Order: sequence, then structure tokens, then C-alpha cells
Amino acid sequence: MARYLKLGVTSEAKATADRKVRDIVEAALADIEQRGDAAIRDMSIKFDGWNRDDYRLSQTEIDACVDSLTPQERKDIEFAQAQVRNFAQIQRSSICDVEVETMPGVILGHRNIPIQAAGCYVPGGKYPLLASAHMSVITAKVAGVPRVITCAPPFQGTPARAIVAAQAMAGADAIYALGGIQAIGAMAIGTQSIDPVDILVGPGNAFVAEAKRQLFGRVGIDLFAGPTETLIIADEIGCDPEIAATDILGQVEHGPDSPGVLLTNSEKFARETMAEIERLLQILPTAEHARKAWENFGEVIVCDSYEEMVGVADEIASEHVQVMTADPDYFLNTMTNYGALFLGSRTNVSYGDKVIGTNHTLPTRKAARFTGGLWVGKFLKTCTYQKVLTDEASTLVGEYCSRLCALEGFAGHGEQANIRVRRFGGRNVPY
Ligand code: NAD
Repeated sequence: MARYLKLGVTSEAKATADRKVRDIVEAALADIEQRGDAAIRDMSIKFDGWNRDDYRLSQTEIDACVDSLTPQERKDIEFAQAQVRNFAQIQRSSICDVEVETMPGVILGHRNIPIQAAGCYVPGGKYPLLASAHMSVITAKVAGVPRVITCAPPFQGTPARAIVAAQAMAGADAIYALGGIQAIGAMAIGTQSIDPVDILVGPGNAFVAEAKRQLFGRVGIDLFAGPTETLIIADEIGCDPEIAATDILGQVEHGPDSPGVLLTNSEKFARETMAEIERLLQILPTAEHARKAWENFGEVIVCDSYEEMVGVADEIASEHVQVMTADPDYFLNTMTNYGALFLGSRTNVSYGDKVIGTNHTLPTRKAARFTGGLWVGKFLKTCTYQKVLTDEASTLVGEYCSRLCALEGFAGHGEQANIRVRRFGGRNVPY
């Protein structure tokens, strides 16, 4: 039986926080709908202390950010972008258009058509998360999206130079210095100065994730990618407490609402890891966020077997799952609910977040039960088509269709079939 050595806050506390965010977002989106640019300016001033006439950055401002990079910074960003682009291109080549003759004279097919305009959010409230620019802008471009615009909030009062450089190097068509609900609302609803997009993508805090959720339907969204979550699955053979503790703190530093969970089959290992977390919190420069997150949402669970660990992990359905056990592939082969897996102690979530090439925009809040992370496929619409090439095929399908329409009581649908049976088969169709 799974035993909890440490539990996070209750689900009622989470629900109250969710309701507050939902109400703030609802009011803000209604305001953007009504007042457009004036509303986004007011919100930008209120939440980010940031006021401009035009939130779109000029080419001169963008060039200044790119030119401000040191040669090493530029090489590092180029390396990360090359990995993300390469893997996205490999994934794109795995997606095929289809056209087949399923019965004599009947042709069915589908085409993968790029969405025409994407809005990519790059988070930057607490840290300038430039990696998110590679993840969404490059992936959209590899998918073939013609218009890719991107927003990031100002960082400490000014556009974050590294984010802007990464957005430009990734190939964005327009860059806006806007954050939070005002960015998401402006891209989806459109304002006097920003044309609306067809899909919103990218991670963000609870306000960003909730705004995307409320706008779904009006535009597409990639997935619910809110505050980062991490689950470390570890045992005494595959890992040591210092690595396990480092990997939990490495993700909970995202913010005070980021859960970090340790799942193990050894109580001794669990207690030593908890002690290590306390030690590392004394020296971690970002301990302010990490400590709150660990105290509020940190959990430690001890199970009796790998099988039980898989059950608990699938129930949690965490965004990131790092497996450092004697046999990481056991979890690869048996787990079904996760955003991304990081297998073995030689890799870790940070590699995936920053540079290795897989996409770091991943499902949170149990959305991993029904979706994977952002990838080229999210920017493509798989649209079907059909042709019937012969009179015989039209008549054959038409007769089945006619009878099935009659079963549903659909006279108009039925006549669409019947007229073809009469024209192409020369037969009367009984009503
Ligand atoms: P952010 O850019 O997501 O949010 C900053 C914006 O939030 C600000 O511009 C401001 O406008 C708005 N805001 C702040 N307080 C507000 C309030 N009280 N009311 C209304 N709006 C408010 O940056 P962040 O806050 O640093 O959060 C980034 C988030 O992205 C983190 O939670 C991180 O865990 C998450 N993340 C998730 C993934 C994923 O794939 N799931 C990946 C990377 C990052």
C-alpha cells in the first residue's frame, strides 16, 4: 500500500485558488473584448508596470537584443534551436498525407494542413524563459504555419533581451512585449493593433493557462500547460538522495505553485532525500520560490513494488516524470499518463527544458491523461476528402446510404443518396 510521508495542500485549497484565477481572467477577457488596445494597456500597466503606445517591438529594438548577445550566448541559443528544429523536422516527416482506394472507384484521403496563424506565448514573469521561444515558434514554422506571432512579458521593466533574441532567431513574424492575460486575450480576440490568430500555444502561469482554457473554441489551443510539475521515481540502485533532491528543487523553483513529488520503494531513501532537500534549500539562490512550492505542494510517497509505483504515477499524470531506478525501461514500457519521460540518472528535466531537442511545453493538471506535449502535429489540421470515380461506386454507396438515412428518419440526407442512385444507376429507390 502506498504511504505518504509528506502530503501537499488539500484539493479544496486548490479549488479556491482556481476560482479566484477564473474570475480575474473572465473579467479581463471581457474587458479586452470591449475595449481592445485600451484594455491591454491598462492591464499591462497594472500587472507589469509597463506602458507603451505600441506593444509590437520595432526591427531596431529586435536587432538591438540580438546584437546584445555575447558570441557564446548566441552559439548556445543556436545550438538549442538546432536541436529543437531537428527533432521537430523528424517528427514532421513521420506525419503523412493519405490517399487510398477503399472500394473500387471510392477514393478516401486526408491532408495535413498547417494552421494559418499561431500566437506563441513565452513566459517571463519570474524568469526570462527564452527556451519557450524555441519550443513554440520553431515548431510552428517547421509545421508550415505562415503567420507566427509571439508575446512575452517585460522582465524587470523592459523586454528581456535574451527572449527577444530567441524569438527573432526562431523566426517569429512579429514580437510583442506583452504578458499574462492581456497577451493571450489580445492574440486570440484581436485588438485595433493586433490581428487575431487561429491557435494559441505555449506555457505560462495559472492566469495564462486559464485564459487559454477560457478562449478554447474561439481559437484552438495546444494544451493546458500551466505551472510546472515534476515527479521523481527513484530507488536506491538507480539514484542517490542528493540527485533526487536536486532534481526536485530544480523544478519547484519555477514558482510557489509548482508541485514536486518523490515516489520511491524505500522509506530510507525517501527520508534521506527529504533531509537533502532541507540542506539544499539553505544554499539554493532561488529558494524563495522553491521552499514555498515544496512546503505547499511537495509530496513523498513510498510504495512496495514497481507495479504499485506505476499505478500511483499514472494516477498523478505528472507533466515531467524522471525515472532513476534500476530498470527505467520498465516505466517506459508500462506507464501511460505523463507529459514527458526522462529515463536514467544521466539525463534530467532541465536537459529537456533547455536544449536536448524534445519540446518542453507539456500538459499539467492531469491533462497528460488525454494529451502529450506540444509538437508539430498540434499545428496541423488533418482534413479528410473523398471522391467517387464511377457510376457503379456511387450507386453502391448510395443504396446503403439511402437505407441508413431512412433508419435515422433523415429524408433530406436520403434524397442526396437517392438522386444519385437514380441518375447513375438508373434505378428507382423505394420511399
Ligand atoms: P508568465 O509569463 O506566465 O506570467 C507573467 C504574467 O502574469 C505577467 O505578465 C502578468 O501580466 C500576469 N500576472 C501576474 N500576476 C497577476 C495577477 N495577480 N492577476 C493577473 N495577472 C497577473 O510568467 P511566470 O509568472 O513566471 O510563470 C511562468 C509559468 O510557466 C510558471 O508557472 C512555470 O512553471 C510555467 N511553465 C510551464 C511549462 C509547461 O510546459 N507546463 C513550461 C515552462 C514554464
